[in-house]
Amino acid sequence: MQRKALRGTCALCKSAFSKSAMTRHLQSCMGKSQIDEKSTKGSSSLLKFFHLIVEGKFLPEYWMHLKVSSHARFEDLDSFLREIWLECCGHISAFRIGREEIKKSQKLEYVLHPGMRLNYEYDFGSTTELVVKVVSEFRSNIKASEVEILARNDSPQIQCSHCDRLATLICTECMYEDAGWLCDDCAEDHPCDKEMMLPVVNSPRTGVCAYSG
Ligand SMILES: [Zn+2]
Ligand SMILES: [Zn+2]
Ligand SMILES: [Zn+2]
Ligand SMILES: [Zn+2]
Repeated sequence: MQRKALRGTCALCKSAFSKSAMTRHLQSCMGKSQIDEKSTKGSSSLLKFFHLIVEGKFLPEYWMHLKVSSHARFEDLDSFLREIWLECCGHISAFRIGREEIKKSQKLEYVLHPGMRLNYEYDFGSTTELVVKVVSEFRSNIKASEVEILARNDSPQIQCSHCDRLATLICTECMYEDAGWLCDDCAEDHPCDKEMMLPVVNSPRTGVCAYSG
């Protein structure tokens, strides 16, 4: 099933960019907005952050750029990813460098450095695999939370398997035969039990297990 989502939106300035242009855009956009000059505390109050890109390992059309405090722990990043993209029934998850698992209580600053790639898995049965790339390390005196979204892909436009409208529901019985993406009208006529249907959501876990956004 083709999922078209080449663009995303910068959370700082609300402009739209292609996936490939977003990294460079954020570097200049953050340069303008990540130091609050009005803060009186001066440069000694600057905190360290990582700029991360998280994307679906096999569904790279789902991606996010994140600003994460270097003092955050992997469990903070895990909770964030569950909240925004993954959580269906409390499955286990793991961050790995190569095959080695990282302790979730570990702080990011002791593990991450620019250029590094991590793997993340949610649910060891119907696994959703993500790749986490460390773009850079930077300082800022603006901190809203441990993990903040800098940019995110716009919802992919997924066509109904049976007509040319956009899919809004997924029949989990039929999705592996490429017949399970359904628009509202085709869902009405679809023979399977309505309980098998999940909403189409902007997440690499759409249609998997019981994930409903
Ligand atoms: Zn921007
Ligand atoms: Zn589940
Ligand atoms: Zn349809
Ligand atoms: Zn079906």
